[in-house]
Amino acid sequence: MKFSEVIGQKAVKQQLLRSVKEQRISHAQLFTGPSGVGKLALAIAYAQYIACKDKQGDDSCGACPSCVKFNKLAHPDFHFTVPLASTKKITKAEQLISSNFMTEWREFVLDNPYAGLNDWFAKIGIENKQGNINVHESADILKKLSLKPYEGEYRLLIVWMPEKMNPQCANKLLKIIEEPPQKTVFLLVTEDPEDLLPTILSRVQMVKVPKITDEDMAAGLQARFELDDKQLRHIITLSEGSYYTALKMSGHDESAEVHTDKFVEWMRNCYAMKVSELLEFSEEMAKSGRERQKVFLNHAISLLRKALLLNFDVDDLVKIADDSEEEFLTKFAPFVHGSNTPDLIAEFDKAVYHIERNAYAKITFMDLSLKIHDLLRVPQEV
Ligand SMILES: [Zn+2]
Repeated sequence: MKFSEVIGQKAVKQQLLRSVKEQRISHAQLFTGPSGVGKLALAIAYAQYIACKDKQGDDSCGACPSCVKFNKLAHPDFHFTVPLASTKKITKAEQLISSNFMTEWREFVLDNPYAGLNDWFAKIGIENKQGNINVHESADILKKLSLKPYEGEYRLLIVWMPEKMNPQCANKLLKIIEEPPQKTVFLLVTEDPEDLLPTILSRVQMVKVPKITDEDMAAGLQARFELDDKQLRHIITLSEGSYYTALKMSGHDESAEVHTDKFVEWMRNCYAMKVSELLEFSEEMAKSGRERQKVFLNHAISLLRKALLLNFDVDDLVKIADDSEEEFLTKFAPFVHGSNTPDLIAEFDKAVYHIERNAYAKITFMDLSLKIHDLLRVPQEV
């Protein structure tokens, strides 16, 4: 993967390029940032650039023998460590090492380097199980790194989701990072740096990857999909800087308008406490799958924020997607104010958190509905 294939992130790319040009490649780096912004894609492009035999200014060449292998993620000096759990085929703990899953992993990343952990687990058939990186993996890492580089100057290892390492494995990796083999670069890619051992955090150089800007997202989407202006604007608003979310939106027909309509109906039913409608809604949401639940809830959070801003008369800060959204927000704004909206948004955030951790969706949505009912009836303090 070349840097040019990674959407936006110009500043991060410049930071990475500089480290190579100035010959100060830190041996352990931690790519952090929200999901879907391209952390893994950047780490791969960086590794490819480091190994490229014919660097072209600000990008790898894509055609030298090293790049050809990188294009297939099959360079002998380039390794991955990823979370795993037992599958139908592989059940023994000592076989649960990334080396045994490389065919699936290559397919997965080449298909979509912006995909997340749940997609990976679905790919290898361990959906709804907690995956981790076990101690056998650290032994395998040591084995790989004890070999001389085959072709390149550097050995490169990407650890995807290092927060999933169990403590034994984390401690062994820490030892390796503390006394690294010569010419070895560790690229750790995480969404939850606070779940990492502080001792690991203190030894890595941070590479902070921000949300993708609206302009970059527009360019990225237009290059890949045929979208009219209205669709494009909807997707960008909903994606909140995550190309992964944008992909989900582009891939199926549920538009922002559908989400807004559903949200309006839900809020009315919450306010009026229509229990059977709320149960039906929770059931329907539970069936729709985790990613869509998250997209819907994040859309709801963005509507709440907009309604609150309108309430504060800061209209110029509000990006309104279309007429139906404007109509709703004008009517809804009086119900959300300083006395209840922060709590409302916190409850929505909590629901997203629970869904990411495999909570039973029907209960999560029903619970949230009851809390919304209470909060919408909180009077505005003046
Ligand atoms: Zn090259």
